[in-house]
Amino acid sequence: MLAHSKVQSFGAERSLMGDKLERRFATRAVHSGTKHIQGAVNTPIFQSSTYRLSDDRYAGWAGGAQHTLIYSRLSSVNSEACVEKICALEGAEDGELFASGMAAISTVMLGLLSNGDHMVASADVYGGTYGLMTEELPRFGIHVTMANMQDTASYEAAIQGNTKMIYIETLSNPVLKVCDIAAMAAIAKRHHLLLVIDNTFTSPWGCQPIALGCDIVIHSTTKYLSGHSDIVGGAVVGRKDLIAEIFTKKIHFGGAPDPHACYLLERGMRTLSARMPIHCRNAAEIARRLDAHPQIEKTIHPSLPSHPDHELGKRIMPKGTGMLAFVVEGGDAAAVRFMRNLQLIFEATSLGGVESLIECPFNSSHRFIPEPVRTAAGVVPGFVRISVGIEDVEDIWHDIEQALAQL
Ligand SMILES: *Cc1c(COP(=O)(O)O)cnc(C)c1O
Repeated sequence: MLAHSKVQSFGAERSLMGDKLERRFATRAVHSGTKHIQGAVNTPIFQSSTYRLSDDRYAGWAGGAQHTLIYSRLSSVNSEACVEKICALEGAEDGELFASGMAAISTVMLGLLSNGDHMVASADVYGGTYGLMTEELPRFGIHVTMANMQDTASYEAAIQGNTKMIYIETLSNPVLKVCDIAAMAAIAKRHHLLLVIDNTFTSPWGCQPIALGCDIVIHSTTKYLSGHSDIVGGAVVGRKDLIAEIFTKKIHFGGAPDPHACYLLERGMRTLSARMPIHCRNAAEIARRLDAHPQIEKTIHPSLPSHPDHELGKRIMPKGTGMLAFVVEGGDAAAVRFMRNLQLIFEATSLGGVESLIECPFNSSHRFIPEPVRTAAGVVPGFVRISVGIEDVEDIWHDIEQALAQL
């Protein structure tokens, strides 16, 4: 009975959250959103597809059903806990949780754009997003012009009379170019367009795009937010009116997350501000050492003065990133041999987990992009990407050194 009444007072628990926003980031990461059901310290795994209907819930249903515990495609105890935490970390008014990053991205694009609408994006966005924009959206009469995320003027030049949305990412993959979010926000404002950003690569610890003028922030929670390579998930946060619309589309498209995955996400996010400084510090240190290594042609990390966005990065994501790229002497064959020589760093796609992961874009994320296009984008032969984990930096370095020495 106690559990039941606690869950019924869910709405009241939510509204309390707003009063706690003055708490600092690390405290919000630990505490925001947690549902202390039956006095539990952590939100328990609340594995139920549906909830007993009551007058409160009928009232919530009549009011649009958002954040009302009715049925788990709409929301669940565990998804509510997560979304409140992400909103608290991003400084967002509201949010919705999804079953994957791509479910979040596709619901935003297909949900907010209609036949005849146009958006401006960039060819170096996440591969799945690129596929959605080039292969799926045109089938529904939604057209995308590809501009250059690092050249804000190219975005403005691509705007048409029917443009509705500008789409950017904090850092491009895999060459880690920084987007001038504030300049993009000025363009969006001038032309009355929605500015949507995928902030997966820095997490809200590294960059908070809403403060820079974005309307909607998307995450693949698979990455830094969950942080342990154990779930696939997504989130969309931002302006309340837009999120209400996205909620309706989520119900129709169906990309809702499972309570157990949400539980793991919430657990992961509690340590976000403990993990992120180590990812970033390790990546910057490995970048510094690689930069001085004779077998490395080029090292790409915004912390290096040689990085083209070194100064811009200090403004947009001053705390750095745990993502790192470099070019091994000897081309793609050498890069693959280098990867296979590693003993600690795991060869796998994805990023943002506590363990270091490595991949060569030419045979993974960028395998369907023709070589001349890849090379023009900076993914030259020998290109390797590492998601630097939180292991001891000396062990990560030792592994890289011994793998290079065997080449
Ligand atoms: C992984 C990723 C996605 C897709 O997320 P999924 O959870 O794999 O669906 C989108 N954007 C970026 C930047 C990503 O790294």
